[in-house]
Amino acid sequence: MSSWEDNVRRTTPYVFGEQPKAKDIIKLNTNENPYPPSPKVEEVLRSFDCSLLRKYPDPLISELTNALAAEYHLPADRIFVGVGSDDVLAMSFLTFFHGKKPVLFPDITYSFYDVWADLFEIPYECPALKDDLSICKEDYLKENGGIVIPNPNAPTGLLCPLSDLEEIVKMNPASVVIIDEAYGDFSGESMLPLTEKYDNLLVVMTFSKSRSLAGSRIGFAFGSKKLIARLQDIKFSFNSYTMDMLSIKVGVAALSDRDYFRSRVEEIIATREWTKEELQKLGFSFPDSKTNFIFATHEKVRAEVIFEKLKEKNIYVRYFNKPRIDNYLRISIGTKEEMEHLITVLKEIL
Ligand code: PMP
Repeated sequence: MSSWEDNVRRTTPYVFGEQPKAKDIIKLNTNENPYPPSPKVEEVLRSFDCSLLRKYPDPLISELTNALAAEYHLPADRIFVGVGSDDVLAMSFLTFFHGKKPVLFPDITYSFYDVWADLFEIPYECPALKDDLSICKEDYLKENGGIVIPNPNAPTGLLCPLSDLEEIVKMNPASVVIIDEAYGDFSGESMLPLTEKYDNLLVVMTFSKSRSLAGSRIGFAFGSKKLIARLQDIKFSFNSYTMDMLSIKVGVAALSDRDYFRSRVEEIIATREWTKEELQKLGFSFPDSKTNFIFATHEKVRAEVIFEKLKEKNIYVRYFNKPRIDNYLRISIGTKEEMEHLITVLKEIL
């Protein structure tokens, strides 16, 4: 007897970081921003006219797209907006990776890529990072059906030289190359200007980290007019009204407060550099992170042990029980006070 289960799609879902409910927890496990969003966001939420909610939101997300166009100095038809960069990336996988050759992404990288590839039945290969966890450019100069690389990479935190990435884009005119810049604002480098030069380059960004808006789910991508048009076609074949009215307004408000954005990013970078020095003194080593997290391993104590002990002390960091990285902890950068507390607790438990 056949069962309905024979006709149902099965997949192994993405494993998300824990979202503990208790209040007295220091949460350094999902790379959220420890600071609230711009006060302008609060103003917009307080003055929002609830009666508007009876209508559908603008399917073109024009208000936010135009604000992004003004902020990043490029035409609105080269911008795609989605519900977090996860949505932008998922739509991009569905749109751009439709060939028979394998899509390439590093073996150690954002753990959603293989989930989307499996879900959409996209063949893929994962070239190994070098021993120092950096990307080997040559691995991306062979035949492929598309490429996705985060820059800086996650969870390593390492930045790949833009010249290497440009060569990858240039040498792969028959593939779409996606550069995921979820953490790009903390690195100060971006491939965005190169989207003018290469029509096969898509640069993806998010409001979740540098703009403190993980809860509003706002992501966006820059690319050639042609790439963006293809993405829009797939989006409108899936769900027209992706972004809700409030998020659209929240995004515009956050973008309008450039000073707040810059000062918070600088604060996080300063805390990151302080934390690196302190961790080093305690016997940790790590790739030189250009993000809002540090991927650290200890000379004596196993990462899993430190992870459990920190949890007992109400400090959550991320541990991945995966080959090659099972002795590392990914520690998000919190406020200076939170990181001072982390260091104090580490001194106790090591
Ligand atoms: N890309 C990378 C590399 C990430 O680490 C994350 C955060 N989990 C995302 C994309 C997705 O972020 P969001 O959907 O919140 O924009």
